[in-house]
Amino acid sequence: MAVRVIPVEPFDLVIFGGTGDLARRKILPGLYRRFTAGQMTGESRIIGAARAELTDDGFRDMVREAIEEFVPADRRDAASVADFLQHLAYIAIDAKGTSGWEQLGRLMRPGMVRAFYFSVAPALFGDLAERLHQHGIADAQSRIVVEKPFGRDLASARALNEVLARHFREDQIYRIDHYLGKETVQNLMAVRFANILFEPLWKAEYIDHVQITVAETVDVEGRGAYYDKSGAMRDMVQNHLMQLLCLIAMEPPYHFDPSAVRDEKLKVIRALDPVKPEDIVRGQYRAANGGGSYLDHAENPESITESYIALKCHISNWRWKGTPFYLRTGKKLRARSSEIAITFREPPHSIFDDERGWRENVLVIRLQPNEGMNLMVMIKEPGPGGMRLMQVPLDMSFAQALGEVAEDVPDAYERLIMDVIRGNQTLFMRGDEVEAAWAWADPIIQGWEGRGDRPQPYDAGSSGPEDALMLMHRDGRRWRDIR
Ligand code: NAP
Repeated sequence: MAVRVIPVEPFDLVIFGGTGDLARRKILPGLYRRFTAGQMTGESRIIGAARAELTDDGFRDMVREAIEEFVPADRRDAASVADFLQHLAYIAIDAKGTSGWEQLGRLMRPGMVRAFYFSVAPALFGDLAERLHQHGIADAQSRIVVEKPFGRDLASARALNEVLARHFREDQIYRIDHYLGKETVQNLMAVRFANILFEPLWKAEYIDHVQITVAETVDVEGRGAYYDKSGAMRDMVQNHLMQLLCLIAMEPPYHFDPSAVRDEKLKVIRALDPVKPEDIVRGQYRAANGGGSYLDHAENPESITESYIALKCHISNWRWKGTPFYLRTGKKLRARSSEIAITFREPPHSIFDDERGWRENVLVIRLQPNEGMNLMVMIKEPGPGGMRLMQVPLDMSFAQALGEVAEDVPDAYERLIMDVIRGNQTLFMRGDEVEAAWAWADPIIQGWEGRGDRPQPYDAGSSGPEDALMLMHRDGRRWRDIR
């Protein structure tokens, strides 16, 4: 079986910030992979734009190096890299300046899909939108792609939405949350809505609780100054974990189309209860196990920004009343592991005398590493000695189930950029969704900021702060191991 590749329409894609870290690490290598997969057709063109004075060839050299650094050697070859580079051009433009815009306008070809990737600081979004409009470069069909962070609170997110809305309709705006581009994340929807098996049980009556974990081993990776103003709640929970929660909790949309899917996600966010201070644990890693401390990278040596957060949320609707969702994410943890675990309730009555061990079924959806699904089921412990029960996994690794195809699957950025060209917004966040997520997150953040709460220290390389364990223990539950 091979991955089916459907070529997209020819396009002119302008990457503002085309020389930046994101463009070098993700966007341009991703486009190269789509080119070699045959998805990007011959007429398409990619134009890098930034302030640096570079020639087309200078830009191509930079992109060649980026491909060599970020595309594995067995997935590239010199001939296809050379072909790909022929589709590249560069233009020196200052988002706040006047030169370069007319030249860019002349480069745009009629009849091509036009997309503008704003891979620059959000403070420049307004300038770019304004100038694209002023110089008649963006037409009514053009798309713009904007990166996270989309605001740092409700007011700033609203302001960004307003700035973009001055010149672009909502159906032209693609807000990236790269989590939604991950194959396994989309599989959440396939698992839920393409199988009859789960839906009848997918409610508070049968589900005891849900755990969503995104654990990272990395530190703030040279983003110390940015991260210190953000923290785990803004950087991860308000966007990525919120999206995962929505996909688990949403009602079945009437169709897999952008409005229907995003309407249902929005309803979940709006149904989230405020989170009580006692249901939040914030942590900050300290030097241990050979790893450094958060404060080594922070701008402020007294920083009280959290590099870890765990919280318990409730969704007030018919489906979920009474089933808590526990979310946690952090840096410098024991292992890199992202998963969603859905723990079902115990059977109402046990016909077996054996009372040892766990009795619940748990459905674990692993997002990384080793993407797959695992359903914990109870069976009889083998051997004589009566009817003793044990829990065993029905384990499916997507790599094993799909073989080589799993390796050919486009990564999140590749898929999302192709969706922009196709004009499919299903996997992008709508403006009202982002605002609703901030409206939920703002009071939580303001709460600890107002109280001046200090995060609890946890050892680098550990599972997080002790109090996060208590958050679960208190409710007679426990986190799954991070491994
Ligand atoms: P970066 O490495 O600092 O690159 C910024 C880019 O913008 C450079 O190409 C820079 O080139 C250009 N630029 C800066 N000022 C400009 C101006 N006035 N006019 C035109 N171009 C200008 O930043 P980045 O890490 O690539 O991040 C870009 C965006 O993606 C940010 O919003 C960031 O938050 C977001 N993001 C990044 C990552 C990541 O992994 N890096 C992940 C998620 C989101 P010149 O200086 O030559 O103009």
